Amino acid sequence: MIPFETARDLIRQHCFRLSTESVALEKTDGRVLAVDIRARSPMPRFDSSAVDGYALSSVQTKHASHGVPVTLPVIATIRAGDAYRLRAGQQQALRIFTGAMLPPGTDSVIMQEHVRQEQGVILIDREVKPGENVRRKGEEFSRNDTVLKKGTRVTPPVHGLMAAMGLRSVRVTRMPRVSVIVTGSELRPSGERPGKGEIIDSNSPSIAAALAGCGIEPMSIHRVDDDPEALRAAMSAGLMNSDILITVGGVSVGDYDFVRDVSDTLGIREIFWTVAMKPGKPNFFGKKGKTLIFGLPGNPVAALLSFHFFVRTALSIMTGREQETETLFQAVLTREVRKKAGRCEFVRAALSNGPKGELLVSPHKAQHSHMLSGMTEANALIHFPADTICLPENQLVTVSLLQWTY
Ligand code: AMP
Ligand code: MG
Repeated sequence: MIPFETARDLIRQHCFRLSTESVALEKTDGRVLAVDIRARSPMPRFDSSAVDGYALSSVQTKHASHGVPVTLPVIATIRAGDAYRLRAGQQQALRIFTGAMLPPGTDSVIMQEHVRQEQGVILIDREVKPGENVRRKGEEFSRNDTVLKKGTRVTPPVHGLMAAMGLRSVRVTRMPRVSVIVTGSELRPSGERPGKGEIIDSNSPSIAAALAGCGIEPMSIHRVDDDPEALRAAMSAGLMNSDILITVGGVSVGDYDFVRDVSDTLGIREIFWTVAMKPGKPNFFGKKGKTLIFGLPGNPVAALLSFHFFVRTALSIMTGREQETETLFQAVLTREVRKKAGRCEFVRAALSNGPKGELLVSPHKAQHSHMLSGMTEANALIHFPADTICLPENQLVTVSLLQWTY
């Protein structure tokens, strides 16, 4: 049995980087940039107004005061999108709206709320500073600046920024090919009625959904009985065309747990088996050629948590994220939790705010690894260290977010 962090380090060490591909911008959400992206033009591209108001030359307002306002005629209206090219005289103002290009001859904009407007003229009773309410060309970034770094995940703002820069396609890491094999003679597919002693397979849909949350549609999801020959055939097929092969169940020490034996006969090299964590102690990680094999435990909560911590780590690194570990933070525990020493435990919990706005974390009642309901309301995991046996009520504890989309 190895410590949890050792297991994750081993996974990181054995991951390989996937190749890259050029993808149309609209298909890049969730993907990871494979190159730095430099600006082809400054942003903003031109000087423009940040408010609705009047463009003018600020020197004209130098001595404006409440007693002696400056009066300027309003000679034209410029809307966002207009290309107004005539040079304004020093003693003229132009009606201008947010986002509209600043006309030549002006250097500032006074907000409409700050002027008095009379027929065809405005009265200004204070000094306007040069550059006031102007979005300067290039103030966000200049041409050739590196605006997005290789390894950035495409989120809505990243997508929007790439579009704003005029990109039509971008080089991203290709998505990993993932195959899933769910084991257990007791399993019936959802939709079928289970016979006596049988249960409905919840891991196939939950692992598929977890993959979908990472933007991955698995190549295949097969369910096999606890039968070494059937498992061998399925794993052998899965190894042929996958970057990652996930098996679920059958990886513990029972007489009908065949994943390790079959892996051995298929020439899969075992990198670890059993991790000092709860849930998720029976966890296999191996490699054949470049393909990574994750043997996740069958208990539904353990399977999903192992996916969250192990498979996701591999997906991040393979797609070019450097080291994507969860952000840890502290929250006040709302009730005591206890366990035995030896394994770290990830306690499924919900975050909320206390009366003073403090962050609280409440462990769910159903903490067993077969109890999926204990996970449905969880949005956080309390990290209960291996050698600690009690986390008292009101103590600050270490927490990470539990999310299913990345
Ligand atoms: P195993 O890891 O195969 O020993 O399975 C551990 C426990 O999880 C057993 O109670 C199984 O019945 C249950 N289990 C295994 N696979 C699934 C599945 N696909 N859906 C729901 N429960 C499962
Ligand atoms: Mg089983």
